[in-house]
Amino acid sequence: MDTTHHPYPSAAPPPAAPRREASAAPPGAPAATGAREHLLDPSGLDRYRSAVAQGVERVARHVAAAQKPATGADPAALQRAVDAVDLDAPLGEVAPALDELEQLYLRDAVWFHHPTYLAHLNCPVVLPAVLGETVIAAVNSSLDTWDQSSGATHVERRLVRWTADRLGLPATADGVFTSGGTQSNLQGLLLARDEACDRLRAQHPDARLPELLGRLRVLVSEVGHFSTTTACRLLGLGEDAVIAVPVDDAMRMRPDALQRALTDCAQRGLVPAAVVATAGTTDFGSIDPLARVGALAERAGAWFHVDAAYGGGLITSRRRRHLLDGIDRADSVTVDFHKTFFQPVSSSVLLVRDSASLRHVAHHADYLNPEPELLLDAGLPVAPDQVGKSLQTTRRFDALKLWLTLRVMGADAVGDLVDAVIDTASAAHRVLAADPRLDVVVAPELSTLVFTFRPGAGPHAHLGPLELDRLVRRVRASVGNEGRAVLGGTTVRGRAHLKLTLLNPATTVEHVREVIALVHEHAERLLLEDEPLVLDEEPVGATA
Ligand SMILES: *Cc1c(COP(=O)(O)O)cnc(C)c1O
Repeated sequence: MDTTHHPYPSAAPPPAAPRREASAAPPGAPAATGAREHLLDPSGLDRYRSAVAQGVERVARHVAAAQKPATGADPAALQRAVDAVDLDAPLGEVAPALDELEQLYLRDAVWFHHPTYLAHLNCPVVLPAVLGETVIAAVNSSLDTWDQSSGATHVERRLVRWTADRLGLPATADGVFTSGGTQSNLQGLLLARDEACDRLRAQHPDARLPELLGRLRVLVSEVGHFSTTTACRLLGLGEDAVIAVPVDDAMRMRPDALQRALTDCAQRGLVPAAVVATAGTTDFGSIDPLARVGALAERAGAWFHVDAAYGGGLITSRRRRHLLDGIDRADSVTVDFHKTFFQPVSSSVLLVRDSASLRHVAHHADYLNPEPELLLDAGLPVAPDQVGKSLQTTRRFDALKLWLTLRVMGADAVGDLVDAVIDTASAAHRVLAADPRLDVVVAPELSTLVFTFRPGAGPHAHLGPLELDRLVRRVRASVGNEGRAVLGGTTVRGRAHLKLTLLNPATTVEHVREVIALVHEHAERLLLEDEPLVLDEEPVGATA
């Protein structure tokens, strides 16, 4: 087979074609029987190949067949089907289990590769990362310690370094992969809290911890991600510790408002533990003025965390890297690879400016990563470990997906995909802005478009604000139920809006035109229907 001209030659053997592995079982290995035949081991490599190949085949079949991003399946019907499965009566083989899975899941799956899936920050996945995922699952390394991961630890460290370099962080930077932006933000804010506590304790050696925590505040723009608030709850600061800083018309944090909030903190004896800037807000893709916000945070003695869960992909862009200018001032940064790096869920990283700050999560468990002195004393080598940098213990080798992505495609190719979706978003913005029936909230810096029906215009001219809000929500549900497109929705200044999140390079302006035509079509149909404009349920549950 000539593989030189094909990046993805079809190398999988035909499914379920039993071949004898010449070198499979080591001499003396017992025959795989019963339960043991389901283990991945040298005696079962044909089964391993067959199982994976069959799974790949089923997914490929559904990807090929999916005419729509969603089927609008009835949640209750799917629940009945799932509940009807007898989990204590196994099927024994892969094929019938996959048949069943098709009915329960694949047939009605929501497909992010489909160009009219525009709801949330979900991406189509790049093949090197999918390949990585299969390797991760089969080898099953755990990144906490060297003796469970070996080279994987170095691969993760290289990618932490690579990302830090691209962000412009200094040589002292370090970090760790996490399960997502929520966890990265939690860890960033944990470090911020503990740094602030250390400083306060130095000034007030007799103060009790609850007193100190009660004085801490975290400042984030009013359109920042809710995980900042969640983190404050988990960190014992409480929701009330969050100060929402107003944004400008472009949905970016206002430095003057931040300055006022910081001054106010100082006057009330409160301590700004962290200022969180967002590089790519979830709803609008807006990027806070990082350099100015960072400078104000520094002057106030606050930790500067940048939530670049969404905008982090810009570090690969050859045309838009400058949008992140100022991010190099950050004390910590969140980047979600499972958004703008086209990686399968999950993959995220928390980076810190100064590796020493990771001491706040360090722990030495005798069974896992004993104190280096203990090892040296015993004449044992001190091996590198990541567990001392992480909130997790057992941890996936998610870094492998990014590694294979960079090694096969390269960062420029990722950046070209990022640029492509942003280009499409700005072209689509022109389409929406030219529609007299619509109001678009803001021209996109990244790839989301948020809009609503213009009050007093078009076929809905007679609707008041509340009726218009209901119409917007019903249109979203109605489009989603039909499944030809999946839209996002959000609330802006108290009013219901629709949202298009463009994270698929296959989505064109033409697709967006089609979706907007659908929106108007459904709105007109709903207006003709006589039933009151009441919405019971949101069509899609996720928020990211
Ligand atoms: C998506 C997102 C998060 C949360 O990340 P998860 O990976 O979903 O946990 C945090 N912040 C922003 C700005 C996001 O867009």
